[in-house]
Parts: sequence; C-alpha cells; structure tokens
Amino acid sequence: MEIKILYDNAALKGFKKGWGFSCLIELDKTKILFDTGDGPGYLTNLKSFGIDPQEIQHVILSHPHIDHVGGLKYLIQVNSQIIVHTPTFFPLQFKMDLMTSCNMHETFGFEQIFENIYVDFARNYVSEQFCIIDLSHGLLIITGCAHPGLDLILRRAARHEKPLYGVLGGFHNFNKLDKLENLSFIAPCHCTTQKSSIIQSFPDKAKPCASGMVFKF
Ligand SMILES: [Zn+2]
Ligand SMILES: [Zn+2]
Repeated sequence: MEIKILYDNAALKGFKKGWGFSCLIELDKTKILFDTGDGPGYLTNLKSFGIDPQEIQHVILSHPHIDHVGGLKYLIQVNSQIIVHTPTFFPLQFKMDLMTSCNMHETFGFEQIFENIYVDFARNYVSEQFCIIDLSHGLLIITGCAHPGLDLILRRAARHEKPLYGVLGGFHNFNKLDKLENLSFIAPCHCTTQKSSIIQSFPDKAKPCASGMVFKF
C-alpha cells in the first residue's frame, strides 16, 4: 500500500503546491483519493506521477472547506464514475450537486468503504470525516485539517481493536505532542502549525510532507 501526496502547502521540485491537501491511497488494484485541494493543482501532480484521473474509483472528503473540496469538480469533469463518500454533515446543496454529477455516497459515521479502508467522524464546531487504513500491524489514520482536534480523532480511532500505527494529514493547531508518543509514523502536512516541533520531538518517526512525496507501508 502506498500513499502519494498529491497536494500540500509544500512541494518537491516539479510538483505544484498551494494551501490545501490531497493524497492518493493506492492499493493493489484500487485508487482512493482523500480530499482534492483547492483547485485543479492536485490533478496536475497526479499526472506528474504518471496516473490518469480515470483510474480513481473512490473519493473520501474530510470537510467542506474549499482547500479540501475545491478541486473535486475538476475530477468529475474527467471521471464522473467516481464514488464520492460524503459525510452527512456536508451542506445539503453540496450533496445535491454531487448527486447529479457523480455517484454520491452519504456516510453517517464509522463505515467500511473498501477492503481494509474505513471512514469515521469526529464531531466538533467543525466536524470532519477521517480515514482509517487497516495495515496488518496497526491502523493508519488520514486527516484533512483535524479541526475537531487530532487528539479527539486519535481517541475515536483507538476505539477499534487494533493498535494505532500512525497518522498523516493536516493537524491544524494540535500541540499536545505527548499524545503522539505511542505512534510509529507521524506525517504532519498542510495546515499543521507545530510541524517543526513535531519533527524535532520525534526525529525517528516523524516525516515531513510535501506534494510529490510517496509513503510506502
Ligand atoms: Zn479546514
Ligand atoms: Zn485545510
């Protein structure tokens, strides 16, 4: 299983960057997109990886902020077959527009969307859907901005029987670094304000994040 960073506030040479987040979860035969950045930039980066947007089958959306959903319409223009796993707490108009343009699947909380791939919600003043990937040795959590609080997301993910392996995505203003101690993999991306202190605190297991990066699990 691989995760390719398609869009981030930072980028490797040759890849586009901007305020937003998008990553591609690649299983043997299935490609699942998590968030879509703020515009078409993530699709340019997808092509730089040599991947055709038609190869994407599923899209998971975290929360309806433009830096996470702004790019979706550009994918629908070239691939209307995608199944978009849209949380029930998204605005009604957003869900109605999706229903007429692609396959909208409304999610209501913890749910399996593919083999070893789950979604769940953390509810707060801004609610978010996050992704849980069941690696054989533990759970990898993918977050959008983690507005509800990364500690709440990790607590929700810890309800499941397997241990938490790691977390990748935007952590927003999360600063309770002791909550990350038991993880084996930490990739603070996008809006994480404490990026450098997280990487300094966990030099062996924290990785920087940028468009163009590939993480193999
Ligand atoms: Zn946000
Ligand atoms: Zn964001």
